[in-house]
Amino acid sequence: MKKFLKLLAGILASTLLLGGCQSAPADNLSVSGTASLPSAASVSSATATAGKQSASVWYFDVGQGDSELVRLSNGKNLLIDAGTTESGPHLVKLIKDMGITKLDMVIATHPHADHIGGMLKIVENFEIGTFYMPRIADKDVPTTKTYTDLLKGIQRKRIPTVAAKAGISLLQEKSCSVRLLAPKLAQYKEMNNYSAVAMVTIGEKKFLFTGDAQKESETEMLKSGAALHADVLKCGHHGSKTSTTVSFLKAVSPSAAVISCGRGNDYGFPTQQTLTRLKSGGIRIYRTDEQKTICAHTDGKTIQFETGLPSATTT
Ligand SMILES: [Zn+2]
Repeated sequence: MKKFLKLLAGILASTLLLGGCQSAPADNLSVSGTASLPSAASVSSATATAGKQSASVWYFDVGQGDSELVRLSNGKNLLIDAGTTESGPHLVKLIKDMGITKLDMVIATHPHADHIGGMLKIVENFEIGTFYMPRIADKDVPTTKTYTDLLKGIQRKRIPTVAAKAGISLLQEKSCSVRLLAPKLAQYKEMNNYSAVAMVTIGEKKFLFTGDAQKESETEMLKSGAALHADVLKCGHHGSKTSTTVSFLKAVSPSAAVISCGRGNDYGFPTQQTLTRLKSGGIRIYRTDEQKTICAHTDGKTIQFETGLPSATTT
């Protein structure tokens, strides 16, 4: 245990040496109007019309897990989580097939295997700019092989690593920004609440990625007074009833929600309660268990969804 803590402390200590990533600039981009979200059938032209200025947000079908990729119009790429160990090699192939060799920013939202299982493969196969992961309180530091192997992999490749926490800015450019809204606390009762929560702004459009953040973290974010509105919400914890609480959903007020979960998963995700909350808000629901990999194309003014894209699973 001590050895792991030392390894983790050593990796995160490099945080302080990194400049340019610690500021917390004001969120000065506002959103006007509502997202234009045509049905999947009408989106076939989305790729064809995607010009140089367009960005895409990929919600990979990794079975029962999470992995999202944001391809920005400036050529930078952000990967959030990497699914399970089984999905790792498939995910690497899908991303490589896009012609991507470098991931400028990688976020491991929290150390559970359905989020970081495939991350070692990512570390081994891509050049990584900066790696972000939450600092876990000593009493909660996982000793799983998945986690420790990942830490060793990061150390082996000497990847600059920053402790993910609310207020830090990963990217701040004229047309896009990436900022973290959580974790806010140094310690949580439940590992899921350590999840790094990222707000990605592309032009006038906002995409919120919540990892497995649950009610405790959602309440902290609400209390912080941070601007939580997003056009597309990646629902916390695979659509579990303990996330996407009514007050949080009201603050985010998305036009569309994406749920990442496995077909016929053992947990019963997404729960009926979450689906009902989303439906009663008139929010369009996308699910990786039903629609495989989902991609949201945006030019910064409108968003168009594409579904049924190749999965990062064997099934
Ligand atoms: Zn999870």
